[in-house]
Amino acid sequence: MTASKPKIVVLGAGYAGMMTTKKLTQQFAPEEVDITLVNKHNYHYQTTWLHEVAAGTIDVNRSRIMISDVINTRRVHFIHDTVVKINKDDKTVQLENGEIEYDYLVIGLGFEKATFGIPGMEEHTFSIQSVDSSRMIRDHIEYQFARYRNEPNPDPSMLTIVVGGAGFTGIEFLGELAERIPVLCKKYDIPRQDVKIIDVEAMPTVLPGFNEDLLSYAKESLEHRGIEFKLGTMIKEVKVDSVIVGDEEEEIKAGTIVWTGGVQANRIVGESGFELTKGKVNVDATLRAPDNEGVFILGDCAWVMNNETGKPYPPTAQIAIQESDVCAHNIKTMIYGGTLEEFKFDDKGTVASLGGGDAMGTVFEGHKLYGMQAKVMKNVIDDRYLFLLGGPTLVLKKGKFRPF
Ligand code: FAD
Ligand code: NAD
Repeated sequence: MTASKPKIVVLGAGYAGMMTTKKLTQQFAPEEVDITLVNKHNYHYQTTWLHEVAAGTIDVNRSRIMISDVINTRRVHFIHDTVVKINKDDKTVQLENGEIEYDYLVIGLGFEKATFGIPGMEEHTFSIQSVDSSRMIRDHIEYQFARYRNEPNPDPSMLTIVVGGAGFTGIEFLGELAERIPVLCKKYDIPRQDVKIIDVEAMPTVLPGFNEDLLSYAKESLEHRGIEFKLGTMIKEVKVDSVIVGDEEEEIKAGTIVWTGGVQANRIVGESGFELTKGKVNVDATLRAPDNEGVFILGDCAWVMNNETGKPYPPTAQIAIQESDVCAHNIKTMIYGGTLEEFKFDDKGTVASLGGGDAMGTVFEGHKLYGMQAKVMKNVIDDRYLFLLGGPTLVLKKGKFRPF
């Protein structure tokens, strides 16, 4: 160990960053290391609840937790600032308001929307990416309802919502819209049939690659509540108030366009010189960046290889949380010596909410759950994370207890 204490810097207070910081405070005594956490907000948010914020089915504040409520700020130096660039050659991080040095770096800066170069996608679509971007969607949809009521000859497409992509984010958001739109219709005296919610998915099915019974269940549940699907239909271009889709280049006019067609690592990672493969960094089994021994990349910024399938695990909150154990352990090993641990994903299943009391998914090695049972399980998963982060107090304050 060097004469001065090793400096560990964690970038981003998402699932990966928060849990790693917490584990580091448990692994080290205060006199052993300096731990710094940098985040652009003074709160941590539940990314996995943002579809609810975006639809307006939960209040914004429900999804966020003050960092100082769950991280001991006498142990951890919290910097409320935005990361601009990582200078890996001189081991510094440039922030909007200064620069910090590190000996060990943990990058947990999360995802941003991947637009695959589709014209107009960046400029003209909303995305469910942060508290701020999700709140914009909620307010924009409600504004369209208010406008529709107020204009003498309103264009009916003001009330059309197009969702691009029917992966898990798209499906969960549609489920919340199915619950929220009838409430807005009542509030603004608008017949439900005047509002169109259309999902456009490039593949022939929703949730491509997922269990067939479960994806059929999800699709039927959503269709039953008025969601239309255009499957096997690619979005080719987005304009200010329309999307161009399919081989026929059909134009669908819409007052709200939300893109859930894919994610990639926060652009800071690529801009700082880390090599990207399909938008993320391939880390080794110890979660370190290639050729940068003291740099760990976690969560949605990284791909971790599943040696059984030869394909990387799809990044999720579940993986980001589990990675924090290996990361904290390996930082300690790098400081004191020993054998580095390799990450092994313990897949506890996948459950997706479909709005209200409905959900579906698999748990315990493929056991299928539908409806209320699945929704209760989804709440248990959410509450378990709150417990890991902030113990019973946080569960009581922010937990989900009722199935809808
Ligand atoms: P994030 O949780 O995204 O955190 C990144 C953090 O970095 C944020 O706090 C952000 O403020 C901060 N940050 C970003 N840029 C900067 C900067 N420049 N400077 C400083 N700080 C910065 N996965 C599941 O396992 N289960 C689910 O049910 C599930 N549901 C989901 C629902 C939705 C709507 C979405 C969008 C995703 C869902 N996921 C789910 C995926 C999951 O949310 C992500 O895989 C997970 O959030 C990744 O965690 P992370 O720590 O890498 O990043
Ligand atoms: P995704 O990449 O999983 O899905 C994107 C979807 O958009 C795909 O179905 C794709 O075919 C479609 N698409 C792409 N380009 C298109 C185009 N031009 N036109 C029409 N459709 C197009 O992205 P996601 O849903 O945001 O999920 C990101 C990650 O977060 C995944 O790993 C997912 O498992 C995870 N997640 C998990 C949950 C959960 O467990 N409940 C919920 C949300 C997200």
